Amino acid sequence: MKKLFFLLLLVGALGMGAMAQTKNTKTENIVLITFDGLRWQELFKGADSLMIDDTGMIDRAGSLLSDFWHPDPIKRREMLFPFFWNTIAKQGQIYGNRAFGNLVDNSNTMWFSYPGYNEVLSGFADDARINSNSKINNPNVTFLEHLNQMPSYKGKVMAFGSWDVFPYIINEERSGIPVNAGFDLAVGNDLTDVEKTVNRMQQEIRGPWDGVRLDPFTHHYALEAIKKHKPKVLYIAYGETDDWAHGGKYDQYLWSARQTDKYIKEVWETLQADPQYKDKTTLIISVDHGRGITKSSWKGHGSNIPEAGQIWLMAMGPDTPATGEMKMEGQWSSSMVARTVFQLLGLDYPDAKAAPAVKEMIK
Ligand SMILES: [Zn+2]
Repeated sequence: MKKLFFLLLLVGALGMGAMAQTKNTKTENIVLITFDGLRWQELFKGADSLMIDDTGMIDRAGSLLSDFWHPDPIKRREMLFPFFWNTIAKQGQIYGNRAFGNLVDNSNTMWFSYPGYNEVLSGFADDARINSNSKINNPNVTFLEHLNQMPSYKGKVMAFGSWDVFPYIINEERSGIPVNAGFDLAVGNDLTDVEKTVNRMQQEIRGPWDGVRLDPFTHHYALEAIKKHKPKVLYIAYGETDDWAHGGKYDQYLWSARQTDKYIKEVWETLQADPQYKDKTTLIISVDHGRGITKSSWKGHGSNIPEAGQIWLMAMGPDTPATGEMKMEGQWSSSMVARTVFQLLGLDYPDAKAAPAVKEMIK
């Protein structure tokens, strides 16, 4: 009898142990940030000598050359992305420097935005159905939507984007995830002073493009949402870099890229100052596509530009080894983000079609 009782205790203890062990990771919150069409060439080598002196802006105060040029590409990239190279490169991981054979590529063969974001968010390319930038609700379920269906994340998933197609990519209608994108204002009857000011500024400053707002609006709405709503899963999609590039404005592309690095620093510092997030949040930074490499093709992307599927990827958080700039040979893809997010949260990704996780990102 005594033996049986002990055996039951043992079985009970093992059962409890197994339950308690289902989550082996420290990540409780995920912040995904994307950077539209930022090339790996600038990320790893800084401003490009082919374009930097061709903008007609170099004589202006705070000139492009003094802000971004140094003969050493390592110095140059730190001038352009101080947070990435001084913080993420020390505390996190940066993938995609092709000089080391460290390759990150799109899985889709379109090499433009909607297919790129679909891939990052749902975990797989879908070239048969996602082959335009049209405002069509995504038939694929994104990792954001999968999380929003789970009791512990429901209502705690939010998205902010500069491009007005994000409500369709995330399928706001079906997923129920609030998406503030394009020229959306902050809404509700509990608006903070910051949200009221940003709403007013956004109505006064239209910016140069029809479907894409300037990134400060996206950033400040998202930053305020971190403080106000404390989402467990947050997606911020900055957009300016791609539109400046299409316009051939290399100066604006660089300034915008550096400003986005500053915004990401501000997001990270805000997270680390809050006990809900501090040392319990993984930041993943990704991109939808690459661009060309010549004086004209850098402006564009798409399957007719051979280098436009070449991209990059970063992560930093409590479960990610601080290996910095990745120098091992190998092949990664932005479609690996979705399953990686789930594994960081201690979950299995529910869609078998999704690419494997980036195993190097998880201790
Ligand atoms: Zn584009």
